[in-house]
Amino acid sequence: MTGKFTVLVTGGAGFIGSAVCRRLISIGGYRVINLDQLTYAGNRASLRPIENSPDYVFSKTNICNETAIRELLRTYRPDAIMHLAAESHVDRSIDGPAAFVETNVIGTFRMLNAALDYWRKLDDEKRGRFRFHHISTDEVFGDLPFDSGIFTENTPYAPSSPYSASKAASDHFVRAWHETYGLPIVLSNCSNNYGPYHFPEKLIPLVILNALDDKPLPIYGKGENVRDWLFVEDHARALELVMREGRNGQSYNIGGGSERTNLQVVETICDLLDKKRPSLLGNSYRSQIAFVVDRPGHDRRYAIDATKIRSELGWTPTVTFEEGISATIDWYLENSWWWQPLRKQRYAGERLGTAKG
Ligand code: NAD
Repeated sequence: MTGKFTVLVTGGAGFIGSAVCRRLISIGGYRVINLDQLTYAGNRASLRPIENSPDYVFSKTNICNETAIRELLRTYRPDAIMHLAAESHVDRSIDGPAAFVETNVIGTFRMLNAALDYWRKLDDEKRGRFRFHHISTDEVFGDLPFDSGIFTENTPYAPSSPYSASKAASDHFVRAWHETYGLPIVLSNCSNNYGPYHFPEKLIPLVILNALDDKPLPIYGKGENVRDWLFVEDHARALELVMREGRNGQSYNIGGGSERTNLQVVETICDLLDKKRPSLLGNSYRSQIAFVVDRPGHDRRYAIDATKIRSELGWTPTVTFEEGISATIDWYLENSWWWQPLRKQRYAGERLGTAKG
């Protein structure tokens, strides 16, 4: 075990966190401690490819339980923390914001408290290289017009939903722990992710699976909202880079450079499914598209300027939207063992899923 770089990943049973855990274990040189409360969004089946690795440890722990976090830090002595655990679904934040304040704001505060005490007691070498990496979203920057504007790291925060407000608050706390107490931090704000192991209430998996089930493909409003889509494995690679090489105290915007309207995304999925798994009814899957009443506070457009991470860390996406969406559809077609049990569970009704969504 010696010589391995130990990372405490929070939320590692979720969509992006599990991609991070799978990546760190598969490339080698890392020991991963996955701390996750296994809420409805957490799924240990997403860790199946690495669960038998001697370098992988799972702990069912709530990030609001500071005593338990301190114990994990004492036991495993990580070189870095990658903090992804969060309530992440915008629609759920509108129906029940309290859980978002509890986990995203209070939970992050507890993580910071525990991390600060742990970091202060490290020896000089380990203290110098330690990072608390907070994984955040482009939604903190708020709403862009359809035809202009792009988010840079200096764009002022203007969150619209309870979800994005809670993420904005947690970003501010992370920066405050750096400015006030000197905790070494890096922040990253990423656009919409998609890919394998994405919880089936989110837009892309929902559309794929509803299409196959002959169910309506719900789209908010007229489907004009624009998001910048990034393949999750490209995000996981960016996160590792930011954690290892990001400058202390800095934030990095991460995006796919692939802006698409929700309607374009859904139509692309329908067209690919028409070729890969034609409907037995003989219709195009596009005939299942159903426009539904828009959700309140729905930001029109997000767009990311990823110049900083490209020029400082040399990161660019390797997967185009067309390649990534095709690979994602193939994955859902081949891996019903993963999504079927989740579709069967009742997750607070048939949610629509947009954006992150
Ligand atoms: P997710 O909902 O799929 O996973 C969240 C994970 O956190 C789950 O495994 C869940 O069990 C765990 N969790 C929730 N509350 C917890 C608690 N109190 N204690 C411990 N664990 C808890 O989310 P995701 O889509 O993988 O997003 C991960 C992070 O990335 C979030 O912080 C999110 O804000 C951010 N982000 C997501 C996107 C996206 O497109 N999905 C884009 C940018 C940023």
